[in-house]
Amino acid sequence: MDRIKELRQRIDKVNQQILKLLNERAQIALEIGLEKRKSGHAMYDPIREKEILDSILKENQGPFSNEVIAYLFKEIFKATLALQKDEFINNLKISRKYQNEDTLIKIKGEIIGGSNTTYIFGPCSIESVEQLEEVAKLLVNKGLKFIRGGAYKPRTSPYDFQGLGFTGVKIMTEITDKSNLISVIEVLNEKQLEEAYDYIDIIQIGSRNMDNFSLLRSVGQTNKPVILKRGYSSTIEEFKLAAEYIVSEGNQQVILCERGIRTFETATRNTLDISAIPILKKETHLPVIVDVSHAAGRKDIMTLLAKASLAANCNGIMAEIHPNPFVALSDSHQQMNFAEFESFYQALIE
Ligand code: PEP
Ligand code: MN
Repeated sequence: MDRIKELRQRIDKVNQQILKLLNERAQIALEIGLEKRKSGHAMYDPIREKEILDSILKENQGPFSNEVIAYLFKEIFKATLALQKDEFINNLKISRKYQNEDTLIKIKGEIIGGSNTTYIFGPCSIESVEQLEEVAKLLVNKGLKFIRGGAYKPRTSPYDFQGLGFTGVKIMTEITDKSNLISVIEVLNEKQLEEAYDYIDIIQIGSRNMDNFSLLRSVGQTNKPVILKRGYSSTIEEFKLAAEYIVSEGNQQVILCERGIRTFETATRNTLDISAIPILKKETHLPVIVDVSHAAGRKDIMTLLAKASLAANCNGIMAEIHPNPFVALSDSHQQMNFAEFESFYQALIE
């Protein structure tokens, strides 16, 4: 019995040594990860992994077989890579671990983020001065500050209305100049960004462009707030990395917009991913807003979706409104008319 006790004490000691060495190894691996990131090298290096394993197995004297040792070390490699990845995600500039305080985006006296709720309403597309003027009047009467409207439209079919282009941008500017509203306009490429830049208050990067990395870098080099919409087939991690593209270029004024993702469900245009809201709020310091119009694609459930989003602690709601949705040139079925908007907005603020 004494012998067992003595051997157990030796095992305990070895365990302590293994523990210490494993963590020492992990620490060194984290430092390697940091250096790799600085120099742009890939985290996973299968050739180096094979070299390590070969040299370990060469020294193996048993009693564990080479297969068992290889298995154990591969587990260590796997755990190390996961640790490096965690460390990488936590050290992103958008990460809550990197900056604990909420990013507040200040624009024309308004603040997006923190404890503020931002409402961004307006038509899917800017169609005419009269149309946008009517919307602006309604928003101003309600004391609202932001207006959205597409000038460059990303349409599934090349034969659908593509937006008024720069003419639309100028209509928006004419109206926001008069009404003091803050404009949100999407750009699809660098050329449009350059053309419209001086006229736009907030630049929108749409769902279809979330992984247009060169465009992300370009808006990252500007000094204007950016609404980044989640790609409809993108994971939360991909969404976060897209935001990192912008922030890494120096522009921290990024507003994340959940707008629904594609699933097998056909009852809605997309599936609003409510869980993305608390996850993004927890893991990043950026404001998170929700576009209920493109998420649902139908008006009858929009109020409840917006309420659910606010309950999940989002920083704002975007929705499409139009003076006469029946004749709208895009997304006509999902844009609210003014009466529908009245009850929608009332339900949110009461
Ligand atoms: C839009 O907001 O006008 C739009 C096209 O939305 P999304 O990029 O989310 O589809
Ligand atoms: Mn639309």
